[in-house]
Amino acid sequence: MKVKTACENGVVRTLCRMCDTRCSIDVHIRDGVMTDITPAGGNRVNQGRMCPRGNAGLDVFYHPDRILKPLKRQANGDFIEITRDQALDEIAEKLLRIKDGFGARSVGVWKGEAVGFLQQEEYVRRFAHAFGTPNYFSNDSACFNSRYLGHYLVAGFWNPFPDYSSAGLILLFGTNPPVCHPPFMAEFADARARGAKLVVVDPRLNPIACYADIFAQPIPGTDGALAWGLIRRLIHTNGYDKPFVERYCIGMEKIAAYAEAFTPQAVEEMTGVYADVVIQMAELINNNRPKVSLYVGAGLEHHENGVNNIRALAILSCLCGALDIECGFGWPETLDRRDLTLYHEIPLENEKPIGADLFPVIYDIRKECHTMTAMDYMLGRGEYPLKGLVVTGANPAVTNPNTQKVEAALACLDLLVVNDLFMTRTARLAHYILPAASYLERSEVHINHKYQRVYLTTRVAEIPGVCDEYMLWKDLARRLGFGERYFPWENETEVNRYILEPSGIGLEALRARPEGIQYKALCYQKYRFKPLPTPSGKVEFASAYLKKLGLSEIPEYVPPYHMRHKNKDYPLLLTTGARKTLFYHSRHQNIERFRKVHPKAEVEIHPDDAAQLGIADREQVRIVSETGSLVIEARIVHKAELLRGVIEVYHGWENWRINFVTFDHINDPISGFPLLKAVPVRIEKLDY
Ligand code: SF4
Repeated sequence: MKVKTACENGVVRTLCRMCDTRCSIDVHIRDGVMTDITPAGGNRVNQGRMCPRGNAGLDVFYHPDRILKPLKRQANGDFIEITRDQALDEIAEKLLRIKDGFGARSVGVWKGEAVGFLQQEEYVRRFAHAFGTPNYFSNDSACFNSRYLGHYLVAGFWNPFPDYSSAGLILLFGTNPPVCHPPFMAEFADARARGAKLVVVDPRLNPIACYADIFAQPIPGTDGALAWGLIRRLIHTNGYDKPFVERYCIGMEKIAAYAEAFTPQAVEEMTGVYADVVIQMAELINNNRPKVSLYVGAGLEHHENGVNNIRALAILSCLCGALDIECGFGWPETLDRRDLTLYHEIPLENEKPIGADLFPVIYDIRKECHTMTAMDYMLGRGEYPLKGLVVTGANPAVTNPNTQKVEAALACLDLLVVNDLFMTRTARLAHYILPAASYLERSEVHINHKYQRVYLTTRVAEIPGVCDEYMLWKDLARRLGFGERYFPWENETEVNRYILEPSGIGLEALRARPEGIQYKALCYQKYRFKPLPTPSGKVEFASAYLKKLGLSEIPEYVPPYHMRHKNKDYPLLLTTGARKTLFYHSRHQNIERFRKVHPKAEVEIHPDDAAQLGIADREQVRIVSETGSLVIEARIVHKAELLRGVIEVYHGWENWRINFVTFDHINDPISGFPLLKAVPVRIEKLDY
């Protein structure tokens, strides 16, 4: 592989993008070859630390299986190499043919994380609108959007990460920071050293739960009942910030009345968490408020009642007075920058975005179509057909629920283009595959809202023929006739300069400070001098917006699907989606040293459930749901690790796709999320 590095010998500092944490790293170059990645200091995010995944950036870059040339699928299913010009010419011609025949909306674009984050997302959205289609999809349909909405609907914003280091109490719901965001463990250590308490709520005994003062294991999907139990207890014991609530919140009387049903005893019956534990948790919250760092992970959003459960927890944060304080529910100030999307310039008001009728909130707030409805449109069951799809850095054939339907839908497309680094399951179904650039081959602007810092990553290396995301969309747009107008910049450097211009922070200044520049001093409790960005300008315990849409005004608790529809054929609950330290969703399984640690998929099962089913450790079993099945190896865990009746399978395996078992038709009414963490299933022994 020919590679052009930023220097012949030396160390180049940039940000790691092997996950979304964005740690500072040093890339070491010797004789034009990148030889190592080590953690760099100066960035508050990682403070000189790095996780093993970060160290593997070069394993990805130099991987022998990387796609380095455009590929075109032949009638027999084989792929042949073609030139980039030929690939883009043919793709553009086919996109125009679909537009002429069915309208621009019959083309969709789908963005994942394998090729980048915010800046890439804006390129994709911009391209879609310039082409004339409202159909922008992303993996956020099944990860992130529910958490975003749960907080946004209460306060008008979401800051993903509190600063745990100054917390008096850290309250973690459905998250596993040592695995998901390892560098944040330094903040936990600081807080614990100062005497901060830790409460972990998770059906799974994850590593951080071992250090918790209280570890509660609710039945999957019942966290909302626990949240309401805590709300009730705080109200009953006068354990909330009354002056804050009276002045800055609306809907208190409504939530106080609704909370009445959630006595500690009732919560125990609903969730399986002992009444005493509910009382102790409420006491810890009361004793430590307002310094309560409450973080909600993906564990809560993968349920069909996820948004309301998360809303209830966001309300709990506000009752503590933890809104917009250093360790609390932060209200980030954004960089004064240019947004690349075209929503104001090309509103596409007359085009009906896919899924917006079923899940209007998600389109209204996130301007995003729903991947849960995309498959029906590809299969010809929608209001109009979805005929063409350009997927960049996403792998829905692995990560979306109901794999058999996803594959059938993708196979129906007249045109499927995949831009990726590797031959993923989704890429195998494509008509064209384009080679994507890894994060080391791009220079882009990053914003960290938690610390209000802006960074510029460095293009550390280039592979001839492999183009960054901007070049992909620009070159395609120019072939489609709108490139000069909407993609006028020649390269990513020009885009970065355009984005930053209003901020007053120059590209050169940013380049000289790889540890980033703070764009605004952190300032707290801003609601004291400006209205919150909600419709009422206040914290909304009750949402008139949702009520108007016929949705729940307050975050009412609805028991999860498996409790409402008990089925003796499927007595177990499958949870998926928990992270592994070495993988990032469906990525990094092809790194050989990581596969030595995780050689194959397994279903984790409680020893009593295994004994009841007569299953031995390492035995092959079949997981069966109403949608599909998967043969997989059983691993019997310690009885404290999982609740009885709950089994767990990692979600991103290319060769053991658990999404054959999950479904897409039971959805959160607000976010449209599928239930990925409480799927009713059974386990069968295999007959040999
Ligand atoms: S947590 Fe690990 S993978 Fe994620 S940015 Fe930091 S070093 Fe990279």
